[in-house]
Amino acid sequence: MTSFNDLGLSQEVLKVLSELGFEKPSEIQEKSIPTLLTAERDFIGLAQTGTGKTAAFGLPLMERIDAKDRATQALVLAPTRELGQQIAQQLTTFSKYKNKLNVMAVYGGANISTQIKALKNPQQIIIATPGRLIDLIGRKAVKLNQVKFVVLDEADEMLNMGFKEDIDRILEFTPDTKNTWLFSATMPNEIKKIVDLYMDDPFEVRINTKEKVNVNIDHQYVPVKHSNKPEALCRFLDMIPEMRGVVFCRTKRETQNVAEFLLKNKYRADALHGDLSQNQRDRVMKRFKEHDLQVLIATDVAARGIDVNDLTHVFHFNLPDDLAYYTHRSGRTARAGKEGISLVFAAGKEKEKLKRLEKSLKITFDKVEVPDGDSIAAIRLQKWAQNILSTKVKGKVDPQFLELADALFGGISKEELLAKLVASELEKLSVDKSKDLNDNSRSRGGGNDGRRRGGGGSGQRDGKSRRNKKRPPQSKRRGEEGKRNYGGKKRSDGKKRRFRPKK
Ligand code: AMP
Repeated sequence: MTSFNDLGLSQEVLKVLSELGFEKPSEIQEKSIPTLLTAERDFIGLAQTGTGKTAAFGLPLMERIDAKDRATQALVLAPTRELGQQIAQQLTTFSKYKNKLNVMAVYGGANISTQIKALKNPQQIIIATPGRLIDLIGRKAVKLNQVKFVVLDEADEMLNMGFKEDIDRILEFTPDTKNTWLFSATMPNEIKKIVDLYMDDPFEVRINTKEKVNVNIDHQYVPVKHSNKPEALCRFLDMIPEMRGVVFCRTKRETQNVAEFLLKNKYRADALHGDLSQNQRDRVMKRFKEHDLQVLIATDVAARGIDVNDLTHVFHFNLPDDLAYYTHRSGRTARAGKEGISLVFAAGKEKEKLKRLEKSLKITFDKVEVPDGDSIAAIRLQKWAQNILSTKVKGKVDPQFLELADALFGGISKEELLAKLVASELEKLSVDKSKDLNDNSRSRGGGNDGRRRGGGGSGQRDGKSRRNKKRPPQSKRRGEEGKRNYGGKKRSDGKKRRFRPKK
């Protein structure tokens, strides 16, 4: 097995990697770093976000920048400010033990005068979003005539966002002698044109992104009418209180509406979209990273830069128009070797789109049901009871408080007390859970229609239902999933135990 030591990196960089806890190179790193460290050649890396591609280009870039030369030697173009900031942050970290390098990120939505002022200091590496860089070039705030390396990160995404012309213009300002390193998750014709136009005999590294990135993702869909989607989302959040996720919407307005619905119902959620100021976005991301928020409601574009490795769920409030986005979205979960669930709320024609996705991505969507009120109540009570039962009492409670509690509750029977406790716990569940939100109108063809409840149950993924892994017969899986979602509590007659809150 290859280790970072075998790739030709300096001791200074190896020390940082060990501090970061990077034990072995990811596939894209293993295949790219040796070439990028030495070759005077263009490069194409086909890899998605979450595969470690920032280090794949960032580490060799650090090694190849001449710290004594104060000119701008490398330019990294990225589609969003979040991604630009992350790249800058990672590059700064990678260079911790090397001679000081100046790395600066410039992006739209931030004060341009401040950026122009900062650019008066020599910046050896500039990371930029294309639109802002064009502005800065126009104001003569950056000089790209000594650039030796241009990295086009998430090139397909930059084209999706309409940056083609800006990229063309920017590249005109860079010398012909530079090396261009292009990273992209997909290779549409537009990217091929860029390659033909700007790259010379590029060395190509392709990692089998679909297999590698999606292997730990459990793809699911729930048929639900569009108008019921917000409530259905709440049910999943109730069912899995420890989940952390991103809910993808197509438009800013929808993002805002869903976030407002969740906030009104007291969920820890907020919106992330392009109309927010940089400060607002930073604030939302900070809260999410600190686990103050359980879910982010985001547009595709705004979510590009979310660098969070512990998402258990990605929800597709609706499917994107461009199906390639599905891969980007679902790749937000199951990062850094973890597992995750990607759940589509499928209304009307979206069920047809699922079939196309299954075919083109070679994945299988399992059908799940919107959890019903009883199931949610049962799960919540089990967790509540487990918490109480596992609480250590010895030495923690002053006897005087026990006496006080005894006096306060002394007047009612144990049964009454239990009923009141359960009722008060269940009152915490917000929206009305009595309605059946499942859209049973028409079953879609294809895929796996074996119904499962609750989008992965308690979020504890046991790996049994992963795609690409051999799946036991449907009948057996239903048994397992019953266990996953309801704690295996079955009545002696084999039927599911009913949990009903006492009124
Ligand atoms: P990226 O695809 O560059 O956005 O990286 C995804 C995440 O994986 C980032 O949080 C990196 O810090 C992390 N990462 C990258 N390479 C490795 C590695 N070799 N070992 C462990 N984590 C890594």
